Amino acid sequence: MSKSQVSNKEPGKKIQAIRGMNDLLPEHSSLWQYFEGTVQTLMQRYGYAEIRTPIVEQTALFARSIGEVTDIVEKEMYTFEDRNGDSLTLRPEGTASCVRAAMEHGLLHNQTQRLWYQGPMFRHERPQKGRYRQFHQVGLEAFGLDGPDIDAEVILLSARLWKELGLLEHVTLELNSLGSNEARAAYRDTLVAYFEAHRDQLDEDSLRRLTSNPLRILDSKNPDMAPMLADAPRLMDHLDDESRTHFEQLTRMLEAAGIDYTINPRLVRGLDYYCRTVFEWTTTALGSQGTVCAGGRYDGLVEQLGGKPTPAVGFAMGIERLVLLLQTLGLVPQSALDEVDAYLLPMDDGATGSAMLLAEQLRTALPALRLQLHCGGGSFKSRIKKADKSGARFALLLGEDELTHDRVSLKFLRESRDQQSLSRSALVAELATLLSGNVAK
Ligand code: ATP
Ligand code: MG
Repeated sequence: MSKSQVSNKEPGKKIQAIRGMNDLLPEHSSLWQYFEGTVQTLMQRYGYAEIRTPIVEQTALFARSIGEVTDIVEKEMYTFEDRNGDSLTLRPEGTASCVRAAMEHGLLHNQTQRLWYQGPMFRHERPQKGRYRQFHQVGLEAFGLDGPDIDAEVILLSARLWKELGLLEHVTLELNSLGSNEARAAYRDTLVAYFEAHRDQLDEDSLRRLTSNPLRILDSKNPDMAPMLADAPRLMDHLDDESRTHFEQLTRMLEAAGIDYTINPRLVRGLDYYCRTVFEWTTTALGSQGTVCAGGRYDGLVEQLGGKPTPAVGFAMGIERLVLLLQTLGLVPQSALDEVDAYLLPMDDGATGSAMLLAEQLRTALPALRLQLHCGGGSFKSRIKKADKSGARFALLLGEDELTHDRVSLKFLRESRDQQSLSRSALVAELATLLSGNVAK
């Protein structure tokens, strides 16, 4: 890069992160790991395999899949030319990349595939609570299955996640069907005729969408348009027979599984590729950024991207919003707050080497133990202070006295219990008992 491109006009001035792109600080990373770990286990339990794709793709991939006239492609993508002059884009969502990779590696030839992914996504939106320019999604895609059973399964999987996180009573499932492409095209004409008749009530955005993407007008949050939109013809009333049956079967399966839902006839989703089933899980606890998970069926996308016709269904959830929801509702388990269980401190420099060896022995004996070893010397007082600051529940003390008698002192930092002097084997047994209490908590 030439000097003129890299401006360094203010040397010494602190450089800050890009607006809307967040650092995840150590105090929050265990909560993210708790969430991500719960998701990962769940995906495995349902037989979904993880796929990881690059963060950058050719711009055409997103333009062709998401749709030229969607908010994302029109104004939210981070698109740039690389050194070869190719137009590249930071991925704004995961589905297009998944489809591209599955096609490229022949995963879709007469096969079903259940895949999941997670990672950062990029959209140039106005940053606010629950809306960022780099944010993280976890999502899944099921390819090669066209029945309502797989739609129900992905919804049940998401419902189980809410249950495990303690969120189920705080989220609502909204469902709709967008019908077949043909039914939607016919409905589009009916809808445009209705909007034409109410043209004076459309705002600027909606007038623009009238020719490009009239279904998205239904999605408008403008309160002035609400009464007119409430009376608009409903896609639900214009479904083709097959889509209607598909939708009825899906709702029956959800009912049988005890999943509550509401039908929202105005749920159309922001991306062009959806057909038939669409759904969102929403919460009222996060203000206007209330959608925590959104998905649906996209039977036409694989073909649209040059593959054989392959039915598909998937969803994506926003990790920032879910983490925020867990925090807002006080649903963060203690294990996701603690960073370590124990802090091992040599009481003076003479015990440093023995403490290091003891730490290794304990890690071998107790793989579940999260143990931090004091390093860096200091007075006894400052060592104890560091033990306390580490957030550990216990301190393990090793000094001259302990070394002489081959014992270790166990000091409780968070509860009023007497300090214990234990042999090494008794210490292992005691820590194992204390840690099993952790799991039960
Ligand atoms: P919204 O209507 O909130 O803009 P969307 O329809 O654009 O959402 P999707 O593309 O369906 O969102 O993405 C799925 C999920 O990803 C959303 O439900 C939300 O939880 C999360 N998400 C989307 N955009 C952002 C963002 N800019 N910042 C944080 N999370 C986001
Ligand atoms: Mg959006």
